[in-house]
Amino acid sequence: MLGEDMPGKIERQQRDFRSTGKLKQLMADHFHELADASMTGVRKIAWCTSVGPVELLRGMGFLVYFPENHAAMLGASRMAVESIPHANAIGYSPDICSYLTSDIGSFLRKKTPLTAAYQIASVPRPDVLVFNTNQCRDVKDWFAWYAREFQAPLLGIHTHRELGDIREYQVSDIARQMEEMVPALEEVAGEKLRRDRLEEAVSLSRDTSLLWKACLEMNASFPAPWTFFDATIHMGPAVVARGTRESVGYYEALLEELQERAAAGISTVAGERHRLYWEGMPIWGKLRSLSEQFSALNASVVASTYCNSWIFDQLDPADPFESMARAYTELFIVRDEAYKEQYISRCRDFYQFDGILFHDAKTCPNNSNNRYGMPERLMKRLGIPALTINGDLNDLRCYSEEQARTNIEAFMEQLEEAT
Ligand code: SF4
Repeated sequence: MLGEDMPGKIERQQRDFRSTGKLKQLMADHFHELADASMTGVRKIAWCTSVGPVELLRGMGFLVYFPENHAAMLGASRMAVESIPHANAIGYSPDICSYLTSDIGSFLRKKTPLTAAYQIASVPRPDVLVFNTNQCRDVKDWFAWYAREFQAPLLGIHTHRELGDIREYQVSDIARQMEEMVPALEEVAGEKLRRDRLEEAVSLSRDTSLLWKACLEMNASFPAPWTFFDATIHMGPAVVARGTRESVGYYEALLEELQERAAAGISTVAGERHRLYWEGMPIWGKLRSLSEQFSALNASVVASTYCNSWIFDQLDPADPFESMARAYTELFIVRDEAYKEQYISRCRDFYQFDGILFHDAKTCPNNSNNRYGMPERLMKRLGIPALTINGDLNDLRCYSEEQARTNIEAFMEQLEEAT
């Protein structure tokens, strides 16, 4: 444990990060570049799922837009709640992914959080949409709706799921699917895939991943210099700017700041008494209130599956297709229960948390790992308690704040008694 071998560290609480200014600038530049290209046609735009083959798209010269990032903004700004019924009205059930329903609903009602944040009227127009079903089938249906709306080509990778050990034929299959997309992408791009540009994007993506991983791993320190709630904000560039120099520069600066915080004993949570793991999607509209509640209870949420899911250290510019295929197949979300339990157990060894929070997201079964007995098995295996919080990523009608607060308080009392 890093913190324990640093005698003389002074514990100090500091919620603000000096990197936040850089983060805001990077995100603003990202959206303005897309908005300009959408208006002028100066660059072609590809829409991509958040764990889709962005490196390939950058290698083809596309600007890349991520609807899931926009959907998370809808959740965080709480615009999702008013948007979802518009998608329900055209036949998309309230029970399916609330990223999908809030995003399509927001398009239908012509209201986007990009307006308040960046004075941008609408999401950028796609020249092509590319999905990977490694997360779920919802992303395909989501992108298919926009493909019809914009009369733009839809391309996709169909992944293997429920995997234990990864087999070579699975990786080769995904690599071939990516290669088969190239001619169609070249047609839209109006130019050939340039190997040097692809290798550079893979290399920059790998650098981003390694830096992001190092930032997350700073929370092996006692006290943890930041929390899951901070990391969900600072992970924006790992999603939307993966494969660019800007994201690498950003995480170099953030890592330096986190190293300074850890060395000086600066943390987001004052007087850290308990350390927790968050399993599942964030509840975007309640990040602040949850963060404040845990902070008041002297509990740091030190690690999460969600933030770890943007670590793609398998990427290798010397072998772009195979390494992209491996990175996007070895993901937690496509693995079987045994793998997931082992993964969380390894995280426990590293981060030394004393409790697990499972978020059962009503509209995302793919990221709700509490439904087949995993909390019970992990409690037994690790000898620590777990709590399931019922809620949703974007649809706050599925979340009772009062109920969650009460359950969290009771859970923390249980942890106190065990101390
Ligand atoms: S993984 Fe969940 S949140 Fe993400 S797109 Fe699929 S259903 Fe939606």
